[in-house]
Amino acid sequence: MLKQIFQFTNINICIIALLYALVFMDNISFANTDHPKDSLIIRVGSYNNRPKIYFNESGQVVGLFPDVLNIIAQKEEWKLQYIQGSWSECLNRLKQNEIDIMVDVAFSKARAQKYIFNKETFLVNWATVYARKDLRIDSLIDLKKKRIAVMKGSIHTDGDNGIKRIMYQFAIDCDFIEVDSYKEVLTLISNGKADVGVVNRIFGSLFSKLYDVKKTSIIFNPSHIKFAFPKQSTIAQKLIEKIDYHLREMKKNSDSIYNRAIYIYLSGLPRELIFSKKDKTEINNISLTIAEKEWIRNHPNINFGIDPEFAPFEFLNNEGELNGITFEYIKLLNERLGLNMKVEKNLSWNMVISKAKNKEIDILPCVSITKERKKYFKFSRPYVNFYRAIITRTDMPFLTGINDIENMTVAVQENSSHKDYLLEYTTIKPIIYQTLKDALYATSNGNVQAFVGNIASSAYWIRKLNLVNLKIAAPTTQEAQTLHFAIRNDWPELISIINKGLKSLTPQEERDIRKKWVNVEYKPGIAPGIVWRYIFQIIIVAGIIVLLFLFWNFRLKREIKRRIQADKDLSEANERLKKLDQLKSMFIASMSHELRTPLNSIIGFTGVILLGMTGPLNEKQKDQLTRVNNSAKHLLNLITDVIDISKIEAGKIDINPQHIVLSELVNESVISVEPQLAAKAIELKKIIPDDIKLYTDKKRLLQCMINYLSNAVKYSEKGSITIIAKKLDHKIKISIIDTGIGISKKDLPKLFNSFERLDSHLKIKAGGTGLGLYLIRKLATEVLGGNVFVESEIGKGSTFGLIIPITIKLEDTKDQTQNS
Ligand code: ADP
Repeated sequence: MLKQIFQFTNINICIIALLYALVFMDNISFANTDHPKDSLIIRVGSYNNRPKIYFNESGQVVGLFPDVLNIIAQKEEWKLQYIQGSWSECLNRLKQNEIDIMVDVAFSKARAQKYIFNKETFLVNWATVYARKDLRIDSLIDLKKKRIAVMKGSIHTDGDNGIKRIMYQFAIDCDFIEVDSYKEVLTLISNGKADVGVVNRIFGSLFSKLYDVKKTSIIFNPSHIKFAFPKQSTIAQKLIEKIDYHLREMKKNSDSIYNRAIYIYLSGLPRELIFSKKDKTEINNISLTIAEKEWIRNHPNINFGIDPEFAPFEFLNNEGELNGITFEYIKLLNERLGLNMKVEKNLSWNMVISKAKNKEIDILPCVSITKERKKYFKFSRPYVNFYRAIITRTDMPFLTGINDIENMTVAVQENSSHKDYLLEYTTIKPIIYQTLKDALYATSNGNVQAFVGNIASSAYWIRKLNLVNLKIAAPTTQEAQTLHFAIRNDWPELISIINKGLKSLTPQEERDIRKKWVNVEYKPGIAPGIVWRYIFQIIIVAGIIVLLFLFWNFRLKREIKRRIQADKDLSEANERLKKLDQLKSMFIASMSHELRTPLNSIIGFTGVILLGMTGPLNEKQKDQLTRVNNSAKHLLNLITDVIDISKIEAGKIDINPQHIVLSELVNESVISVEPQLAAKAIELKKIIPDDIKLYTDKKRLLQCMINYLSNAVKYSEKGSITIIAKKLDHKIKISIIDTGIGISKKDLPKLFNSFERLDSHLKIKAGGTGLGLYLIRKLATEVLGGNVFVESEIGKGSTFGLIIPITIKLEDTKDQTQNS
């Protein structure tokens, strides 16, 4: 069994030795790779002490010292052989001259006795005191009565200049808690078991972030870390000379591998970054520090916010893309500095400001400096100027400057430098508008008297919005205002990066940007897309209107044609009817005339017989003959009326005007109704001025009067009939007023029509033809050139009458009926 174990152990040792040899070989081959065969072979002691010297995943010896030493070896064509061992093994080999160089050796007088050191310090290391976050530690005195965590046996704990000795020398009373590693030191502070702790500078800067501790300003025990060489080395002096030379040169160049390595290893960043190729800043000759370059690498995305209406500096065009002077600068800076500054779209300016204050937005690329903004941002060097101006309506009086608007209502944009300016430097109490456009509209509409803003962007929007009633009235001050990049105040690195980028722009480049944006003619108007959409809609609507119009026109033409034809037909029919009517009237007139002759014979002979001229008649004969005589008279009257009407309608009636005295004519008419008046005991009154003389057709006027009077008597049973005549300018009004049965309102319009007889208890008794009033109207209008009228109230009586000209005029003979 034991034998087996022994054998197994032997095999293991062999494998380990083989692996060791492979690693060793690998190290040699790594060092050999880039060097010619006859180059100087230098043995370097190596041990594991990350990040100063260590083995990476592929077994290469890397770290702060090897990376720098490799560069020097490359330049000097040395071949490096890394000999691995522990720290004490390495020191021992150095002492025995088995290695040529040992790295990472802190210089001390004691060590200087044993080894040779180079002159140029590679790195100064020191101890740093870290403390609990809630403690305030400014100096060594503050460590009194504190529990101090330290690493056992460390030079910073027990060395000549270690913390124990310092505390003793200053007689500061404190407790030490000794642990085995720096890691434990920081853990104790973090969990409150210690108040403070001591670690070396490199460990602190690399790992303190992982613990809840804070760095104090107490540092002590600086040690110069150098390269050490064996005392008996024959090449040490040559090596020292070269190493010192290269170290000095590399320290001078901020971008040398030495400086990069120090920064990257001490920041805990990936080693590859030390050897990354030239970046854009180098190509563009912008000398960024290692730290700045590193900052850029660590911030691959930087967002910025804009005022979307701050044209021509920064604004979104109709397609929602960023435009303007600032954007040109950002494009150039992104390109040159390798930055990736991107706009946060779809935010109002107010939202941008609040996000920037919360550090959700990193940059405001085009703002001026105000007290308020200084609280949140740091500012780059100015890169563009503007003037602040007062904008008013064109009808406002002439202004000379800001003092002239002290008592006016003044608009200003929220979160703008102009608002801060008005509040800080004037007594104006501005009215705040959320956007620049709103403020300009308010000024244009007269809601405010003036607006204070950036002259360039105001001019842009005045033209773009076509606010023709606005003018740039006066500058606020004569000095130009400056615009800057405002950057969140916890990013000071970016300020200096952007400043370097801005500095790298040539005057020509800046001129080109300005020329591009300042000389642009901003035509008022809307996006072409919108214009086309409207044009398209208008064309469609116009097309529909035109089609409707054509259709309507077509129908109208057809209708007009139809109506013209109908009119033509109608007038032809009319014409035919007129002719027929005339024929009818002429027929009736001639027929009636023929009828009158036999009627006259009947009336005449029956009258002679009734008078007894042909012998005596018995009562029965007398009665029957009287009936024959009356019927014949009635028929004759009817025929006479028909003849008259027919004559008038056929236009064949003769008008024979003559001078008459009205009262005489009235007397004459009364005679014909006297027997009826007497029979009914109706009183007749006449109010007729004697001087009324007329030049008219006597026969026809008499006919009218008789007809009216006979109606008045017929349709009255008692009371009176009054005839009144009145002069009216050139006319005479004759009224026949009775106290008879009267006529209802609804029947009045029917009167004066032919064969119209109204229902009444007298209808039968009174007898009649229904032609009397019709004839009166025809005579009055078409022969006498006047008119008729009637007023009546049922049961109370009626007033019929005529209004005729004093002197008849043939052209006045027209048909008019007045019912009042
Ligand atoms: P008629 O021969 O029937 O009297 P008219 O043309 O003279 O015909 O009158 C038409 C109708 O007007 C009469 O039937 C009668 O009903 C009414 N009328 C005319 N005059 C009077 C009047 N003075 N009072 C009441 N009704 C009248």
